[in-house]
Amino acid sequence: MDVALADEVERRRNLAIISHPDAGKTTLTEKLLLYGGAISQAGAVKAKGEQRRATSDFMELEQQRGISISSTVLSYEYDGKQVNVLDTPGHQDFSEDTYRTLAAADNAVMLVDAAKGLEPQTRKLFEVARLRRLPLFTFVNKLDRPSLSPYELIDQIEAEFGISCCPLLWPVGSGDRFRGVLERGARRVHLFARGERGKKAEEAAVVSLDDDRLEALIGDGELYAQLIDDVEMLDGLTDPLDLDRLKRGEQTPVLFGSAMTNFGAQRSWRGGAVPRRRPTPLLAAGAGDEETVEPTSEDFSGFVFKLQANTDPKHRDRIAYVRVCSGRFEKGLKVKHSRLRGQQLTLAQAQTLLGAERSTLDGTSYPGDVVGIPFSPGQMAIGDTLYTGSRRISFAKIPSFSPEIFARCINPTPSKREPHLLPEPPPPPFFLEAYKSFNKGIEQLLNEGAVQQLLERGDTGGGVPILAAVGPLQLEVVSSRLSSEYSVEVQYEMMPQTQARWAMAGWEEVDAVLSERKLLNVKTLEDVYGRPVLLFTSGWTLDNAVAEVGERLQLRPYALA
Ligand code: GDP
Repeated sequence: MDVALADEVERRRNLAIISHPDAGKTTLTEKLLLYGGAISQAGAVKAKGEQRRATSDFMELEQQRGISISSTVLSYEYDGKQVNVLDTPGHQDFSEDTYRTLAAADNAVMLVDAAKGLEPQTRKLFEVARLRRLPLFTFVNKLDRPSLSPYELIDQIEAEFGISCCPLLWPVGSGDRFRGVLERGARRVHLFARGERGKKAEEAAVVSLDDDRLEALIGDGELYAQLIDDVEMLDGLTDPLDLDRLKRGEQTPVLFGSAMTNFGAQRSWRGGAVPRRRPTPLLAAGAGDEETVEPTSEDFSGFVFKLQANTDPKHRDRIAYVRVCSGRFEKGLKVKHSRLRGQQLTLAQAQTLLGAERSTLDGTSYPGDVVGIPFSPGQMAIGDTLYTGSRRISFAKIPSFSPEIFARCINPTPSKREPHLLPEPPPPPFFLEAYKSFNKGIEQLLNEGAVQQLLERGDTGGGVPILAAVGPLQLEVVSSRLSSEYSVEVQYEMMPQTQARWAMAGWEEVDAVLSERKLLNVKTLEDVYGRPVLLFTSGWTLDNAVAEVGERLQLRPYALA
């Protein structure tokens, strides 16, 4: 038993925040950093447009705060724990990235806007967290603004998500009447003082529930009476916190607060509520059967959950972000590549993503950490497993999000602009050359998982690519990157379909169903692995198909990569 390794695993805490845009993820992240000591002074995060959502919330923090943090993971030590916060893009169109990031996380924090309750993006991402059985913490934010009733919020979460809520922090009033939060376990109330923005603590006093002065301190008889009622109601209505249920994703601790005014965020953090689960054993396909890879196993293993290319316009840099799953990772480690049949790679240029800066790796990374590995084209793809040791393993594939918009990507014509990325202007024949860079660009962007590709049935590669995306911004990113990085202009011909289902039963069954005329208004395409994908123009035609032939065709909203 490697005790030092086991200790490092034990102190790793890894989390991703899932939320609908504007719920306060950037603000909360900033507060977590503040308490973690990674930054020393909080400031208000300014309003921002669509632009920054397309990149990363962390990048925005970086720019606004003048601090240097990686856009993929942000790490700091807190209370002896090494906490890694994985960035998830704010905009819903990039939920695929969030999806993959959740595959690399051990815990999730769900952020809910108290005035809005569950929103589409929260719903979508919750499904992913559930799929991965991630322990989920819920932070209901913006209590200093007019809010829905906390009971209503709890009801929404329980009814829609089928997960039991255990409120740990409960609000006393909201909006102008927000007076603080009840810490149920300790039976005390943290009173809120409306302070200046950016001040570190806004807590006026901590008073026991049994303290005679409490009513006067709350200064609102009605709210006090409500609080006393709530204490009893909650004890009767909600289950006590059960760590096993939490770890299985069946129960969520709920914390009410206001990230902007620091209220609740610090308390919940201090209380150690976030995050609980250390890196867990993961299932992998071994040489024979499935096996469990223990984080404390001496052999290194990890998988690629994110690729980033051409972040620096002057160099064609490519970085694969690898979540360490077992063993130790050190610079120069020789690893094997599962998809490339055990081919060996020496990771001499790996970067650690620990600490405030992305620096050349000089320390050691442990399970739960993320390392950045530069790679050459084709070498890394989302979901690839790297490992040492004699047994070839590969971790479970990361599912991709069900796309909702589909476009034919046509007219690859040479850009009018001087191609600034290629070493020299492409020689004639110009069109062919452009087509080559078009293919190269598309291939790179598909590899990065910027969009998915679907094909007409039987297309062996010569046809017009059909791009499938979760949101339109993904398509914009593809066209602007094709233009700036590969000097190719493209046009999209949008398709009318809005829903996709993979028919896991295979083509034979699909053809049988089609010949029986059991499917209305369906378009059949195939994915890059030749699996049938059915496209529907409306939720109604989809529901109809699911009811009629859902089981027979084994219809799934996504397929494993
Ligand atoms: P994100 O899109 O989820 O990253 O959300 P931001 O952190 O950027 O917050 C969106 C807006 O809500 C910003 O204007 C924040 O200042 C504001 N905000 C965040 N948390 C709170 C809060 O607790 N109370 C109030 N009143 N506003 C908040």
